[in-house]
Amino acid sequence: MSLDLSRLVNLRRHGGKLTAQCPACEELGDDSTDKNHLFVPDDGEGRFGCINFQGPSGSDHRKRIRVLVGVTTSTVPKTISRPLARARASTKTSPSIPALRPLGIEEMAQIAYLRGWQYFAGLQLLADRNLLYHADMFDDGKTWPSWVITDSARRNAQARRLDGELWRGIGGAKAKTLPGCDPSWPIGCAEIGNLPLVLLCEGQPDFAAALLVAWWESVNVAPVCMTGAGNSIHQDALANFAGKHVRIAIHDDDAGRKAAKRWSDQLYLAGAARVDGIDFSGLEKWDGQPVEDLSDFATLLDPEAPATVQVLSNLGSLLSPWGPVRKFA
Ligand SMILES: [Zn+2]
Repeated sequence: MSLDLSRLVNLRRHGGKLTAQCPACEELGDDSTDKNHLFVPDDGEGRFGCINFQGPSGSDHRKRIRVLVGVTTSTVPKTISRPLARARASTKTSPSIPALRPLGIEEMAQIAYLRGWQYFAGLQLLADRNLLYHADMFDDGKTWPSWVITDSARRNAQARRLDGELWRGIGGAKAKTLPGCDPSWPIGCAEIGNLPLVLLCEGQPDFAAALLVAWWESVNVAPVCMTGAGNSIHQDALANFAGKHVRIAIHDDDAGRKAAKRWSDQLYLAGAARVDGIDFSGLEKWDGQPVEDLSDFATLLDPEAPATVQVLSNLGSLLSPWGPVRKFA
């Protein structure tokens, strides 16, 4: 019997093995600091151990670990067995993505204006990397000019109206995932290539702000977008992050912090070299409202505003190692 990795705490990859907090030590009040007593060798076959209870004398300890986090039938995800549900699952639709064209300058300027950004340079850079497009999207009885993010994998795409209004046909949401798309696919991961630094964003506005911040700071990054905080990163996408430094622009709310933690665990398991996150807490916009995400932060990048120099010197640099960074490792 093997362990249910999803129930382990502080799961990390170290060389040829996974480590995590040992649940049997934890219930004895031990392994509460380093949280790394448990090890699971990569060669698998269900083997695992605790660094404090190795060899034959550790048998009872390992039994306890099995009881606490072993795979049992009740932890195997339940599958829906009704025939109708099965039929639906087997006819999974492929993404239905409308005709895409590059955004015009006025359209990019409109997005920047609605978001309060002084520049549309970041949008131009995103478009140049084939990650940002214009599409006419149907909603509530007519078509609307929209901006769409997607990548060459075309497994996920999300649209917002260029006028900033809501999609009434789906109950007034700001963003619409296109039909047949998989919202767990991180948009942009197909384009990471050789870039060593990935800026992982939550949602369309932050993704659109990513290359503006990178341009401002003269740093080259690969922007990647998870289109919802509730999603985990798709298994097929994880290999793209191996060996990368991934910096997460953490939304300053509970859902954002939970998502960042979940993604960082996944990314470490996938072999990311380092995962950390931008902590926006305590930063303010010009109007005194809190900076809650990267899109808000991008409104501060304004050479005309009088206090810019002072603010930026307080901020440091979001994409440098000494930025307002929160470490996950
Ligand atoms: Zn232990």
